[in-house]
Formats: sequence, structure tokens, C-alpha cells
Amino acid sequence: MSQFLPGEGGDWPHAVLVEQDGADGVRFAREAAAILLCGRRDCACGVCRRVREGIHPDVQLLDRGERDIAVDDVRGLRRDAYVAPLESGQKVYIILHAQNMNGAAQNAALKLFEEPPEGVYFILLCDCAQALLQTVRSRCVILGGAADGGEEPDVDEEARALAREFAAVIAEGGELPLLAFCLEHEKLKRAQLAGFFAAVLDLLEPALRAVVEKKPEHGGELARLPAERIARLIRMVQHRAALCESNVGTAHLLGTIPAELFTGN
Ligand SMILES: [Zn+2]
Repeated sequence: MSQFLPGEGGDWPHAVLVEQDGADGVRFAREAAAILLCGRRDCACGVCRRVREGIHPDVQLLDRGERDIAVDDVRGLRRDAYVAPLESGQKVYIILHAQNMNGAAQNAALKLFEEPPEGVYFILLCDCAQALLQTVRSRCVILGGAADGGEEPDVDEEARALAREFAAVIAEGGELPLLAFCLEHEKLKRAQLAGFFAAVLDLLEPALRAVVEKKPEHGGELARLPAERIARLIRMVQHRAALCESNVGTAHLLGTIPAELFTGN
């Protein structure tokens, strides 16, 4: 999991869903929090040490054990998140067993995960991202285990070639080439589209990692984009990949990409 830790300087998505629950997940989340607060990796300063020991006031762990995480817990988090950090410029909330958030709690948390206050990070830990609502997953960057529950889409060479073509268009940033790409491929069958989305994620995820680790040369052409943009692309593609399994029209799944990327941006 260490490959997913933030880079020095602490540029990281504001809501991540880590597919590792329990003590190992907490260890990973605390290490990430230490880097976010201190700005250095593998550091043994007082801040990092206290974060690792779980006694830093700006890093909080929500652990309800086997019980549900209820809407009141989320309201408590939200109130707390809007209070300035006590000692550092950041606050990190680690949510253990995030799959135990009940439906109301997940809905109450959407806005908070989507637009947390400045300097606030959420790290959700769970065994399987699929256990959370799609609306929550789509607001988080999912890190770790490929465990997906559903069938793995078939990622063949054709899907990979198409994904590379898409990545080139996205990296260039023009709206018209993207429209042309989506029009040209609107007749893709559902299985092809699922493979395409999976292949695109296989390009986006390493690109995000490369950017946050400040090693853009390892991330391909997508790593020219800012981390926030890549994180947003990942959310968008994850969302569409999940919709692929429903009966939403395939032309719609591809055809709405330009509008989503070029509005409200
Ligand atoms: Zn440190």
C-alpha cells in the first residue's frame, strides 16, 4: 500500500477510500496523515510520531466497532471539520469500517466528501469499496485492492488502444477532439465500454500516483494534468464504469463526458 502514500508537500485527494480495513488500514492512514501534516516522508519528528501513535489532535479516528456509523456521527464530523486545526494547517479524519455507515449517514456525508473545508482530508477504510453507495464511491479516489465483487471487465488490446487514444485527447485538453472521439465511438457495445473504462482507469490511477509523488515522468501523458483534474477524471470514469452495469444507455455514458468535463470547471 505504501505506493499510495502522499508525496512530500502533501498534495493528495481530499477524500480517499482505501480498500484495507482494520489495523493495517489504520496504520496506512496514519502514515498518510503524518505526511499531510508534516510534509515529509519517513520522518520521525514529534508531529509524525504523535500522528503514528494516534495522539495528534488534528488527526481523528472514527471507530464505531461493529456498530453502524449513523447520521449523527457524520454531523459530528462535519461540525468538527469546520473548526480550524489545533496545531497544524491540516486536519485528517480516518473512518474505520466505512462500510458500516448506514444509508442516511452516507447521504449526509456526500457534500462533505465532495467539498471538504480547506485543509481537511477524509480517509475511509473498508474491505471492499463496492460495499459503499456509488454516490460515495464517485466522490472518493479509491486506493488499493482491486477487489471489486462484480465481474472483472474484459480489458483486451482493443480497449487498451482506445484508452490510449482517449488519454491523448484528454491530455491535449481540447473540447472538440474529445467530442469527436465520443461521437466516433458511441456505438461501442456495453462490454467494450466496460473494458474501455477499466483500461482508462489503468492509465489514470498511475498518472495520479505519479503526480502526487512528484514524478510525472512515471505517469505517462496524463501526468501532465494537475492532481485535482486527474482525481476528477477518475471519479467520472468510476461512476460511468459502475453505470455500465446498469441499463443506462451506452451512447449516453460516452456522450455525456465532454459536457461533464467542460462545464462547471
Ligand atoms: Zn515529520
